[in-house]
Amino acid sequence: MSNESNQRTGLSRRALLGAGASGAVILTTAALSVTTATPASASQSGWLWCNQCQSLWWPGNGFQVRCPKGPGWLHNSTGSGRYVVNDERSNDGGQSGWRWCAYCQALWFAGNGDRGYCTINGAGGHTSAGSRNYRVVQGLTTSDQDGWAWCRQCDGLWYFLNGTGGYCAFQGGGFSHSILGSGGYALNQN
Ligand SMILES: [Zn+2]
Ligand SMILES: [Zn+2]
Ligand SMILES: [Zn+2]
Repeated sequence: MSNESNQRTGLSRRALLGAGASGAVILTTAALSVTTATPASASQSGWLWCNQCQSLWWPGNGFQVRCPKGPGWLHNSTGSGRYVVNDERSNDGGQSGWRWCAYCQALWFAGNGDRGYCTINGAGGHTSAGSRNYRVVQGLTTSDQDGWAWCRQCDGLWYFLNGTGGYCAFQGGGFSHSILGSGGYALNQN
């Protein structure tokens, strides 16, 4: 499975550091887990990147999912790798507080006390109902791919090294994702 179009587009690791250091750092790195064993089920594979909105989303529920690109658009994950997201049982040192939204299927950060903007639920925001507590690793790591960021508008995780801000569900659409205040995040693929 190719992920060519999802690779970094020439920005260096130094550029990534700069992005991570700009603005106020709102997100905090969770304390290292004291879990001694990591069950296989702590890792969930099959998350996809959308080549339109640049967001990470879960296709495992068997239906097509609306994309914030606009009315009538669905996520398009042609060219995406299969991404692995760990949950709280993992000892990967990632930041906890990430959730799957049962409405829009996106991965979103629930640790700031707001629900962001949801492609399906609008200003009502995302839901945590039925979600695991996911972790996402911050900073420069040995993970397969860095270049992911949290969007303060929609609270989603999106890929920022393709030279586009994609499409954000903020205020019903018409916006790109924001990188302001985000650290750099990394994901593994399988
Ligand atoms: Zn999309
Ligand atoms: Zn949502
Ligand atoms: Zn956004």
